[in-house]
Amino acid sequence: MSTNPARRNAIEAIASQPRLAGTFDFRNEKIDLIYGQNVFSLDKMEKRLPKDVFKSLKANIESGTKLDAASADVVAAAIKDWALERGATHYAHVFYPLTGFTAEKHDTFFEPNGNGTLAQFSGKALIQAEPDASSFPNGGLRSTFEARGYTAWDVTSPAYIFDTENGSTLCIPTAFVSWKGEALDKKTPLLRSMAAVNKAATRVLALFGKKHGYISASCGPEQEYFLIDTRLFHLRPDLYTCGRSLFGAKPAKGQEFEDQYFGTIPDRVLACMMETERECFKLGIPIKTRHNEVAPSQYEVAPIYESANVAHDHQMLTMTLLKRVATKHGFVCLLAEKPFAGVNGSGKHVNWSIGGAGVGNLLEPGHSPHENAQFLTFCSAVIRAVDLHQGLLRASVASAGNDHRLGANEAPPAIISIYLGDMLNEVIEQVKKSGSASSSRKGGHMTLGVDTLPVLPKDAGDRNRTSPFAFTGNKFEFRAVGSAFSVAGPLTVLNTIMADSLDKLADDLAAALKKNADFNSALQGVLKDILSKHGRIVFNGNGYSEEWHKEAAKRGLKNLRTTPDALPEIVAKSTVDVFERQGVLSKAELESREEIYTHSYVLTVNTESKLVSDIAKTLLLPAALKFAADLTPVEKTKSGGKLRKEVIGLADELASAIEALDSARDVSKSDTHAQAKHSCDKVLPAMLKVRAAADALEEIVADEYWPMPSYQEILFLR
Ligand code: ADP
Ligand code: MG
Repeated sequence: MSTNPARRNAIEAIASQPRLAGTFDFRNEKIDLIYGQNVFSLDKMEKRLPKDVFKSLKANIESGTKLDAASADVVAAAIKDWALERGATHYAHVFYPLTGFTAEKHDTFFEPNGNGTLAQFSGKALIQAEPDASSFPNGGLRSTFEARGYTAWDVTSPAYIFDTENGSTLCIPTAFVSWKGEALDKKTPLLRSMAAVNKAATRVLALFGKKHGYISASCGPEQEYFLIDTRLFHLRPDLYTCGRSLFGAKPAKGQEFEDQYFGTIPDRVLACMMETERECFKLGIPIKTRHNEVAPSQYEVAPIYESANVAHDHQMLTMTLLKRVATKHGFVCLLAEKPFAGVNGSGKHVNWSIGGAGVGNLLEPGHSPHENAQFLTFCSAVIRAVDLHQGLLRASVASAGNDHRLGANEAPPAIISIYLGDMLNEVIEQVKKSGSASSSRKGGHMTLGVDTLPVLPKDAGDRNRTSPFAFTGNKFEFRAVGSAFSVAGPLTVLNTIMADSLDKLADDLAAALKKNADFNSALQGVLKDILSKHGRIVFNGNGYSEEWHKEAAKRGLKNLRTTPDALPEIVAKSTVDVFERQGVLSKAELESREEIYTHSYVLTVNTESKLVSDIAKTLLLPAALKFAADLTPVEKTKSGGKLRKEVIGLADELASAIEALDSARDVSKSDTHAQAKHSCDKVLPAMLKVRAAADALEEIVADEYWPMPSYQEILFLR
């Protein structure tokens, strides 16, 4: 046990705490009663609303259109009654500003009316609010004199009640826009991109002669996270300020035993997970899976997929609940991408597909030749989209935090490629090679590829964990997304580029059909063309390997290693063209985003570097020097003299590294992009030098002097 007093107290407290912190027992609760109890869901609407209002609201929900004012009053009254019955005192428009976090402003239902108070909630309060929005990042979209923005209810995402120990709030998921209608948030473009996918997929399906309902993008996000003890957390200023450790010598035991992944979940952690899941169930979040992840103290939670928009809202709520419930159990939930050097970081795998009533999942290989042709069509659209916008996809997962993880041999490289698996790859190769409408296939029937598709394996066996974008049987899994990310950005990009690819495919196919009446031959020609042009993005080998980096360069694929390299893709001409064409974001809206994300990168590196220097100066260097001073009496001994010399040598190294870091940070560039580049090229390496000296000291300074908990303590004590 640590001999440093602060660390010892923390450890003693952990060791002596009661083992089972659970506040409820699932066995005594009926999950089917809890499930969705805090959601104003369709069945509650149906019970509480007049028939005609319910019908029009349902139509709004299905088509993603706005509620009319007259119905809004009726719906608001019904929601209010329900919320009051459940004990809510306040309501809040919840929105998702470009900070990547959730924002909310609460108002009470209760207002004095002369005789006392009356609970009020108008239709207008339900569908629209005007939070003072001047303090949210807008990247130059609004000047301060028109700083107001407004939030508007997204009817496709149901209202819900958020319970805390001391009270409950009715939450209304909203989009957040400026008075001119410019998107100031993450939900607005996501909703626009969903509409774009529906429109474009409908065009393609029409050529297949398909009748169907609304085509929606779906998402199932897997969330990785760490749970560490609160008492140790509070002894680490780096963790409680930045959410990741900036120092820490490599522990004797890390993850090399491979005993953690899918291992038995410790009771204290399981109690916390169960309570988190219960809160999720109340909110109708369909949590499905929990397990231990690869690194010590790392875990994962995953829901069943939902419509991308609802999945986004639920994912944001899941992150909130993971953090909230953890504190009740004496844990802190770390969502940062790389909280600890030397063990795996955390990602958020975004599983994505498109489909709808009448056609099912469009990325599911079918049973008949016709269905297979349709599957290959949608699959080819994905291949084209990802190849054309590989840089943008990389940019959609770019952040200071995720840079520490991508390409670190635990997560996909920064090079975007697609894994298809051997079987599907073979089919794609066949389509590429076969001639379009070739004369040898008279009657145009047997066109190999679109007609015949082998049964594709869906089992987990041949999954390639090293690919950033993998086909996993009936969906694509975008694995480069960072654990702290909102899924809205990556999903918006996927939907938008997919919609654009489908539009192009529909144009080409319609043109080919004019020339060639045989559907299969026409389609074969179009797919052959797409796959020959864009097949280079497909890679089924080891994405971590050095050879792949070389091969990818040969293929001309982008390798945008850092955030400052990647973010400019957001305003690249290819991005602006597609986003404007699809009506998802305008050039100005894209520029504001790029500006905000670049600024946020600079802020993050700046804060972290300031903290590195503060901690090194005020905690670590003094500890090392005090230890060296205390060694003076034994300086004459062989071991004492040697140790003292070593400590002083490293302390000097640390001191000069701090100086170098401070002067690197002091440089200020005239524009944000130059500053970001400087942060990346100069400040980050200088931080690592400070860390290297400090970590070396941690390994030789006597334990009682070291002020911060070690990796060993943080990762293994619970
Ligand atoms: P695995 O990672 O072993 O493939 P699952 O098949 O359960 O595990 O999928 C992981 C995630 O992908 C889950 O959240 C799941 O709901 C989601 N998923 C499955 N099908 C789809 C789909 N059609 N669209 C989006 N996500 C999906
Ligand atoms: Mg996982």
